Amino acid sequence: MSHHPTHTKVLIVGSGPAGYTASVYASRAMLEPMLIQGIEPGGQLTTTTEVENWPGDTEVQGPDLMVRMEAHARAMGTNIVHDIVTSLDLTRRPFTATCDSGAVVTADAIILATGARAKWLGLPSEEKFKGFGVSACATCDGFFYRGQEIVVVGGGNTAVEEALFLTNFASKVTLVHRRGELRAEKILQNRLLKNPKIETLWHHAVEEVVGTTDPLGVEAVRVKHVETGEITEIPAKGLFIAIGHAPASELVKDQLELHHGGYVKVEPGTTRTAIPGVFAAGDLTDHVYRQAVTSAGMGCMAALDAERFLAEQGETDASTELPLGYGAPEAAAE
Ligand code: NAP
Repeated sequence: MSHHPTHTKVLIVGSGPAGYTASVYASRAMLEPMLIQGIEPGGQLTTTTEVENWPGDTEVQGPDLMVRMEAHARAMGTNIVHDIVTSLDLTRRPFTATCDSGAVVTADAIILATGARAKWLGLPSEEKFKGFGVSACATCDGFFYRGQEIVVVGGGNTAVEEALFLTNFASKVTLVHRRGELRAEKILQNRLLKNPKIETLWHHAVEEVVGTTDPLGVEAVRVKHVETGEITEIPAKGLFIAIGHAPASELVKDQLELHHGGYVKVEPGTTRTAIPGVFAAGDLTDHVYRQAVTSAGMGCMAALDAERFLAEQGETDASTELPLGYGAPEAAAE
C-alpha cells in the first residue's frame, strides 16, 4: 500500500508531557503541528496513580493529567494522530517519518519526545514469567495479587511508589534493593518505612524467579546478599521490576549522537541536536532530572527552538531565492 505523504511544518513524536507541551506552544505559534502519539498514548504517567509534584495540583491521577494534556493540545489546534512512527529519515529536509499504518509524513522540523520505558533485569527466568507473575507496572497488574505476597525490586521513586501502591492489594510487600540506601524522595521513603505491610531487604539482588511451568506462575524470588553471597528465597506470587527507565532512542540511534547509555545528546541549555531542525525533549534526552514537569519544560523549549529555526530557515530560503548576482551582500557575508 502506498501513501501520499502528508506535510507538516512541525512533527512531534511522542505523547508524554514533553510532546503535549511542545504541541501547545507550537500550536500557539501558528505552526499547525502534528503529533504522533506512539505505542503508549500519554506515556509513563498513564501507568502511575497519584502524582503529587505537578505544580498546581496537590494530587492528580497520572492518567487524568495526560487526558487533560491531550485535550489541551487538541484545543490549541494540534493534529493528534494515533499511530506509531516506525522509521525516521533525518538525512535531508524535509525529514520523513514512516508510520506503522503505512502513512508517511514529511516535516520541516521534528521534535523528538519519545520518552523512556521500564528496564528489566535481563534474567532468563524473568523473561519466562513475564506476564505470568513478573511485571513492570504495578498499576496495570497489582489487582491480580489480592491477598498475596509480592516482591518489588529497585530503590528509586518508581520502586517505592509501586511498593506503596501494591499494599492496597498484597498481604505483604518485600522491597529488595541492592544498596543500603534508597534514591527515592524523602517523603516517599518515610511512607515506605512507616507502612507495616512493607519489609525492606537491603543489599540484595534478584538471582532468579522460581515458579511452576504448567501452569506458568511465580512461587518465590531467589535473592542473593551482594556482599556475603548468601541466598534467600522469598515466597511471592508476583515480582515487580522497578529498576529505572531507559530512553526510547531506537528510532534515531544511528542518526544522532547518544550518550549516558542511550540518551539523545543536545546542545546544553537547548533542545537542539546535531542535526539542524531536529530537537529532543524530555526523558529521551534528560538523564538527570527525568520529571514530568522538567519534561514539560523541555517540550516548551523544543517548540520555541523549532519556531526560531523555522523563522531563520524562512529568511535563508527567501535570500537563496534571489536571482543570482542580486544577493544582499550583508546576508552573503554572514
Ligand atoms: P531511578 O531513579 O533511576 O532508580 C532506579 C533504581 O533501581 C535505583 O535504586 C537502582 O539502584 C536500582 N537498579 C538499577 N538497575 C538495577 C539492577 N540491574 N538491579 C537492581 N537494582 C537496580 O529510576 P526510577 O525510580 O524508575 O525513576 C526514574 C526517574 O523518574 C527518576 O528521575 C525519578 O525521580 C522519576 N520519577 C519520579 C516520580 C515522582 O516524582 N513521584 C515517580 C516515579 C519516577 P541504585 O540506587 O543502587 O543505583
